Amino acid sequence: MPLQAHNTFGIASLAEHFIEIETREHLVQLPVLNAPKPWRVLGGGSNILLEETTSGTVLKNRITGIELIGESDEFVILKVGSGEIWHDLVMFTVGRGWGGLENLALIPGTVGAAPIQNIGAYGVEVKDTITEVEVWLWEENRLATISNEAAQFGYRDSIFKQQLRGKFFVVSVSFRLRKNAVLHTEYGAIEAELHTMGAVPSVANIAQAVMNIRRSKLPDPKIVGNAGSFFKNPSVQNSKFDALKKAYPAMPGYPSKLESSTKIPAAWLIEQCGWKGFRRGNVGVHDRQALVLVNYGEATGADIWQLSEDILQSVFDTYGVQLEREVQVWSN
Ligand SMILES: Cc1cc2nc3c(=O)[nH]c(=O)nc-3n(C[C@H](O)[C@H](O)[C@H](O)COP(=O)(O)OP(=O)(O)OC[C@H]3O[C@@H](n4cnc5c(N)ncnc54)[C@H](O)[C@@H]3O)c2cc1C
Repeated sequence: MPLQAHNTFGIASLAEHFIEIETREHLVQLPVLNAPKPWRVLGGGSNILLEETTSGTVLKNRITGIELIGESDEFVILKVGSGEIWHDLVMFTVGRGWGGLENLALIPGTVGAAPIQNIGAYGVEVKDTITEVEVWLWEENRLATISNEAAQFGYRDSIFKQQLRGKFFVVSVSFRLRKNAVLHTEYGAIEAELHTMGAVPSVANIAQAVMNIRRSKLPDPKIVGNAGSFFKNPSVQNSKFDALKKAYPAMPGYPSKLESSTKIPAAWLIEQCGWKGFRRGNVGVHDRQALVLVNYGEATGADIWQLSEDILQSVFDTYGVQLEREVQVWSN
C-alpha cells in the first residue's frame, strides 16, 4: 500500500500491510488476524519520517466520535475518538465557547496523536486539558486508562514516547474544558494579531488569530512536504548557557521547566549555522522557519534523515549543544 498520501512529508513509502481501524472492537480482534509485526499506528502522518518500505502492519486510525460525558457549572468533559481530526475538535469546542484548545488551532493530525508528544503551540500544551487517555495495549490485548498524572507529560514528551513506546493504540482521549475560559494571549504575536483584526480576546478570536499567524508563518504541507518542527528546542544547564552567552551575546534563552536549565530556540542555532533556506536536491530547510525541513519533490526519507544528521552535527560542532528530533522516525 503506498503511503505517499498518508504522510505530510509526501514520502513515497510502501507499507507491507495496511489495515483501517474503525472501532475499538476491531482492535481487540486484531491479534486473531495474525497481522505481521511491527504494528505502527498511523494518524494524519504529520509527525513521521518514513523509509522506502514500511515493514509490518500499518494500522490507519479511523475511530471517530465526540461524546459529552460530564458537565458542571464550570467545566465540560469530552471523550473523543482518537481518529477525529485535531483541528475539527478545536473548532467544535471553540464553536461552543469552551476554553482550553483555542491556542492549538490548525495543528495537523489526529486527536489520538495529541497526547503522545503533548502537542503545544502559542504558550499552551494539550496536557493542561487532558484528563485521561484510553489505550489498547496490544501485547496484553486489553484496554487500559492512563490518567493525566500517569502519562508523565513533558515538553513534547510523555510515557507514550518512553515506557509504552511501540506497545499501544490510543483509542480515545478525554478533555476537561472551561465554560468560562482562561485566555492566553501573551505568547507570540497573538495580541498584535487581535489588534490587527480589531477583535477583543475571546476563545473564537484567539483561535482565529492563531490560524492567521500560522498560515502566514508555516509552510502548508499540501504545497511543500514537511512535518512542522523537525527538532525540539534543547535545554542546557544554566552554567553552560552562561558560558555560551558570553561567547555569543545574541543567543536567546528562556527559563526551562527542567531544573537549573535554560531553553535555547533550536531555530536560532540552526539559522546561525547557516542552514536557513539551504537546499540540497529535493530536500531543504525552509527559508522562513529554520526548524522546518522540507521535501521539494521526490525526496526519500533517507535524504531528509541525512540533512537532519548534518544539521545536528553542525550545531553540535559550533555550540556543543545536542539537538533532538521531534519527528518520529519509522525505521524498519
Ligand atoms: C505544518 C505542521 C505544523 C505543526 N505544528 C505543530 C505544533 O504547533 N505543535 C505541535 O506539537 N506539533 C505540530 N506539528 C506536528 C504534528 O502535527 C503533531 O505531532 C500531531 O499531533 C501529529 O498527529 P498525527 O495524527 O499526524 O500523527 P502521526 O504523524 O500519524 O503519528 C505520529 C506518531 O504518533 C503515533 N500515533 C499516532 N496516532 C496514534 C494512536 N492513536 N495510537 C498510538 N500511536 C499513535 C504514530 O505511530 C507516530 O509514531 C505540526 C506538523 C505540521 C506538518
